[in-house]
Amino acid sequence: MPGYDLDLFVIGAGSGGIACARRAASYGARVAVAEEGRIGGTCVNRGCVPKKLLVYAAQFRDAFEDAAGFGWRPALPAFEWADLVANKDREIDRLNGIYRDMLAKAGVEYLAARATLVDGHTVGLGNERRTARHVLIATGGRPWRPDGPGVAATLVSDDALALDEFPRRLLVVGGGYIAVEFAGIFAGLGAEVALVVRGEAPLTGFDHDIRAALAEEMAKRGIAIHVRTSTRRVNLDGRSFAVETADGRSLAADQVLFATGRVPNTRGLGLEEAGVSLAGNGAVAVDDGWRTSLPSVFAIGDCTDRRNLTPVAIAEGRALAETLFNANPTRVDYDLVPTAVFSQPPIATVGLTEARARERLGEVDVYMSRFRPMKHALSGRDERTLMKLVVERAGGRVVGCHMLGADAPEIVQGLAVALTAGATKRDFDATVGIHPTAAEEFVLMREPVRPAAGAPEAEAAR
Ligand code: NDP
Repeated sequence: MPGYDLDLFVIGAGSGGIACARRAASYGARVAVAEEGRIGGTCVNRGCVPKKLLVYAAQFRDAFEDAAGFGWRPALPAFEWADLVANKDREIDRLNGIYRDMLAKAGVEYLAARATLVDGHTVGLGNERRTARHVLIATGGRPWRPDGPGVAATLVSDDALALDEFPRRLLVVGGGYIAVEFAGIFAGLGAEVALVVRGEAPLTGFDHDIRAALAEEMAKRGIAIHVRTSTRRVNLDGRSFAVETADGRSLAADQVLFATGRVPNTRGLGLEEAGVSLAGNGAVAVDDGWRTSLPSVFAIGDCTDRRNLTPVAIAEGRALAETLFNANPTRVDYDLVPTAVFSQPPIATVGLTEARARERLGEVDVYMSRFRPMKHALSGRDERTLMKLVVERAGGRVVGCHMLGADAPEIVQGLAVALTAGATKRDFDATVGIHPTAAEEFVLMREPVRPAAGAPEAEAAR
């Protein structure tokens, strides 16, 4: 073996890079990680963590409003955005410290620097060079917005998490995870929020019943959803925006947030020059084992633009370390990746949507329950939970599980275990509920809604 400085050099200290580095070091590998920004990557600094803290903040509105039905006589307390941002930043600083300690304890060398790929075994750090048997690209992604007049003056999610001033009116462009989550956050914190979605409803790719139910719940919370349109021009007049839409409206706002997707962070890293192939959108092309076109170089996480989710990047990082440093070839199953959208109320899902299941499996039975949660009998809030199971007719396996409602992410995480284990509808039926909960509904759904019990599928199908 040639004398490399290291066994593994990781470019990017986000969720995936850190997971791989730590697991590799635990098997005795000599590992270094370089990071040009803050340790922890998108999830910790500009994504999941700060977003979830803001979601908690927004949920207090519901608690204050709902309390009256339970005998409390509250006044809606005043909200101070600057306090929330400062407390959120303090928590992120604390997490940065924890991540740094974790790497140190694992024996991973941390380099606060921009790294570029020089060749398959060499990484450049300014004028310095380090060599490694393997190099891992784990550089994540960044927000993307379409070009257009005035778009440069708008926000992306990174900016929205750190605004100096709380916007009284926010216009969100896009209908994906980030658009829906930020619309819910700012509406919950008291802003007047509108969403511009080019499709039929927010959350393309999610189950159609969940999408429709979310749109209803967002509307009940005062979020104006403009569907089947897009922005044509963004005009900034002093401190106020007027956004012209393709269908001829003019929408006023104090801030405009473009949440129109993310792109891989791969430019300027020397990848193509060194022989690493990139797809058209800059994603690093990898095989099933995360190997790039340069055999000693691997890539995981959002920079490969597959399932752009933190737990997937972590699973990939760990699997790669197992494969390279523990003689334990490991793959990741991308078919049953649970995911949550922290909208208000939240969504969680695992497995196939009804439409996808019909495409792939042909005959399926659909069980669905839509109800007003017990809490709202007294709170008076007009909010309905939706739960849905998609079951493969042949064999009875539950292939999709979808929920919109309070605690959906907490509930569906457990059900993801059941689906991963191949649970059938019979297993669900044989499971005793926990009463009174919303979760028990998942084991109490008796009759399929599609096809309706006793009806031929052709009549019941939509
Ligand atoms: P998404 O890909 O989820 O959504 C992008 C949205 O922008 C879609 O509604 C899309 O419309 C719309 N869009 C794209 N291009 C244009 C355009 N030119 N004009 C108008 N609308 C456009 O991206 P996000 O930025 O919301 O999030 C990026 C990724 O990050 C997510 O896909 C997810 O993987 C991850 N993420 C996960 C979270 C979680 O786990 N809770 C939270 C946040 C992000 P259309 O649907 O019609 O294509």
